[in-house]
Amino acid sequence: MTTCAIVGINWGDEGKGRMVDLVAMDYDVVIRYQGGNNAGHTVVNEYGKFALNLVPSGIFRREVVNVLGSGTVVNPEHLCGEIDKLRKAGITITPENFIISDRSVIVFPYHIEQDSLEESRLADKKYGSTKRGIAPVYGDKYLKKAIHMGELRYPDKLKTHLDDVLKWKNLTITKIYEAEPFQLDELMDWVMEFGGKLLPHITDTGDFLRKANAEGKNILYEAQLGALRDVDYGIYPYTSSSNPLASYAPIGSGAPDIKIDKVIGVVKAFSTCVGEGPFIAEWFGDEAKKLREAGGEYGAATGRPRRVGPIDLPATRYGVKVQGATAIAFTKLDVLSYMDEIPVCTAYDINGSITRDFPFHSLLDDAKPVFETMPGWKCDITGARKYDELPVEARRYIEYVENEIHCPMTYISVGPGRDEIILRKA
Ligand code: GDP
Repeated sequence: MTTCAIVGINWGDEGKGRMVDLVAMDYDVVIRYQGGNNAGHTVVNEYGKFALNLVPSGIFRREVVNVLGSGTVVNPEHLCGEIDKLRKAGITITPENFIISDRSVIVFPYHIEQDSLEESRLADKKYGSTKRGIAPVYGDKYLKKAIHMGELRYPDKLKTHLDDVLKWKNLTITKIYEAEPFQLDELMDWVMEFGGKLLPHITDTGDFLRKANAEGKNILYEAQLGALRDVDYGIYPYTSSSNPLASYAPIGSGAPDIKIDKVIGVVKAFSTCVGEGPFIAEWFGDEAKKLREAGGEYGAATGRPRRVGPIDLPATRYGVKVQGATAIAFTKLDVLSYMDEIPVCTAYDINGSITRDFPFHSLLDDAKPVFETMPGWKCDITGARKYDELPVEARRYIEYVENEIHCPMTYISVGPGRDEIILRKA
């Protein structure tokens, strides 16, 4: 039996989806343990190209049970839409291969509205929210004003609970933001229409996971976003509202008592970041445009152009540390093939003092990147399947980064397809 988490080391979009899709064949269960439909994994396989926001990436393997854990927040309308699209592409989704924690939290339309209203109020100081209601819903969870998916089983109790919450929420919507109040009956119709369709999938995922664990099943935890977006350890307040760290995975699954054996940290061969916040190694102008185009760096959930730059070693080293990564998957190496020289951000200059450590977030505004370059390889590497088939310059780059971040690079990804990968060390 193995338990493994696949997590992002940086700002997200590192290619976790393709890694889960790849390794899921060795696992019986794949779990999403945090976040909502604010980010997404892109998976390319024989069924087509999919942007998954809520459904775990193991859904493409027939025998895998996919779990939306207790740490997630679920917009039922969005989830129904995602399931419909997958079914249309020929993917089988049943209560046997897809289960939702009864303790996961429902994202209501008023969360989405509040998210937009707050971003507008913040104007030029906005956090870069995806406006999917994620910060308000996690806020409500900690204020104990959230509604769980399991409450859909008891519509009368749900209605009373929602009525209480709505009276409170409408104070914020009408008095603070001076917007129109939400109506209980409309919200009940909405949640019963979409939540009702999901009812057969809603269960105590902890019971299922403990049984699977006892039977020696292999369990894979799939994170959304990356370490630098963790609400506790990231670039606060430009973080997500959840915990993408591996150590949160058991808590957010429904079975906090199951321990993780392995943590695969996914690192992209260059840096990308969606939305606001400090991004020290950022490139601008033509250089940035070329890299963005080469990598196809547009958000999976929102289509927003991503900010791009060279790999950032202080940030990556920090991400490896807080994730407790035991192996690295290095992705999108092929994207750098057009470059004469490979740039690397090796340190930060903070008011004249050079540091290789990732600083406390208040200092990030003062940090300037220190760049160095390495020779490029300038040839197509997408056909390489063994490590020694890579040009020596590519291998030098890999080994340099590996040495700097203190973690073995086990997987080298040279293309988006399932087989475009080099397994370097067992
Ligand atoms: P995630 O949220 O971490 O899964 O990241 P994304 O959804 O942004 O996935 C990264 C994107 O890069 C997807 O479109 C993948 O198909 C693609 N991708 C993943 N690995 C590679 C790779 O090694 N090379 C190239 N060219 N594309 C890749």
